[in-house]
Amino acid sequence: DGISRRLADRDRRFVARPTTRIPLAVRSGEGAHLIDEDGRRVLDLTSGWNVANAGWNHPRIVAAVVEQAKELAFAPPWCTHDARSRVAERLSGMLSTASGVDGEFKALSGATGSEAVEAALKVARRATGRQATVGFTEAYHGGTLGALQAGGVPQVQGVDVPTSQFHRHAPIPDMLRANGRDYAALVREALLSGPPPAAILLEPAFTNPGVIHGDREFYQAVQAAAREAGALLIIDEVGTGFGRMGHTFGFEHWGLQPDIVVVAKALTSGAVPMAGALMRSELADAVSGPGFSSTFGWVPLACAAATASLDVLEDEQLALRARHLGELALERLRPLVDAHSSIAAVRGIGLELGIEFTDESGDPLPRPPMETLTRRLLQRGIFAEPSAYTSTLLLMPPLVIDEAEWLGALDTIAEQIGEMAE
Ligand code: PMP
Repeated sequence: DGISRRLADRDRRFVARPTTRIPLAVRSGEGAHLIDEDGRRVLDLTSGWNVANAGWNHPRIVAAVVEQAKELAFAPPWCTHDARSRVAERLSGMLSTASGVDGEFKALSGATGSEAVEAALKVARRATGRQATVGFTEAYHGGTLGALQAGGVPQVQGVDVPTSQFHRHAPIPDMLRANGRDYAALVREALLSGPPPAAILLEPAFTNPGVIHGDREFYQAVQAAAREAGALLIIDEVGTGFGRMGHTFGFEHWGLQPDIVVVAKALTSGAVPMAGALMRSELADAVSGPGFSSTFGWVPLACAAATASLDVLEDEQLALRARHLGELALERLRPLVDAHSSIAAVRGIGLELGIEFTDESGDPLPRPPMETLTRRLLQRGIFAEPSAYTSTLLLMPPLVIDEAEWLGALDTIAEQIGEMAE
């Protein structure tokens, strides 16, 4: 990995907060594979953190972006263009179908997940006239200040998140550490004690803490408690949306009826940044005045990418595929829990999966052994990443991954876990 290593050195020198932990200098992509500067193909099990659901460089998405780039890449935000209202209309229809909500949804445009989370929080505040929000400990909803504070990560890269009087948190429903705790009751308590909240912000599966999720009963109880507290239900689908969890949206698993849904990442499968806060139409009255504009929100290039990506999602039935491949994976990986004391849990839904590691005393495994594992996998042509702050190996491949290659990768992972345990 000569060239990759040299590029990683330059990254460390000139890029602030370099994310280079693994010397993989990517040059191109194809389906579920990334190809590095040294010409090596690796099987990607990250999708770039749930971005490339349709696979890297899907030819239909590439063609749509190239065609649109020749026509008009950017438009003044105060003009309309055909693709923008079409994508918004299409997402509204997808959400109504998914949630069983009769009405329509309106899209507030942005470029990144963080920006769309902020937009959702602002809408909720304006619409309810309340300031407070309830979130979950360890949940990550973006790196901008409001999104960081609404989430519950205490530190990012070793730096404390500034605290805020407006945001309070309930524990994420971590079944391994429940100790008889009633997580749903704790959420209700967080909603009903203290200043009345504008909204509760949650994920259908909390990706960043290691794919932690409750069951249907938990999510239904959260929804009921939110309604009781007069708080809007904001679902962050940035990581879980667009087929990842075996449905178009992750919330479909739990039968939820969200007020606002935040989408980003796989909306374009990564071709162009694009994000949205999709709200029930009646909430859109709150969207007026300054503070809701985004220069790079839903530019023609992004809308072309989204249209093509949504076409691929539907035509190739990627949600169904994710469900099938996820079931196969759980079948293969679950025996690891009994076979190795270092494996605490194998969990997830669809192709949103995690293997949680612990040390002998049941505490999270420290970072170095996790990184040894990912390095060993990379040497064998498999790119997987642990959660940034828990010892869970995340398995979130492009939904187009070939079944035999997927199963082969799972076998390699199991083998490496076995070797490391010796
Ligand atoms: N929400 C979730 C669940 C995420 O995983 C992320 C990014 N990892 C974000 C929001 C923020 O998105 P972005 O990085 O595009 O701002």
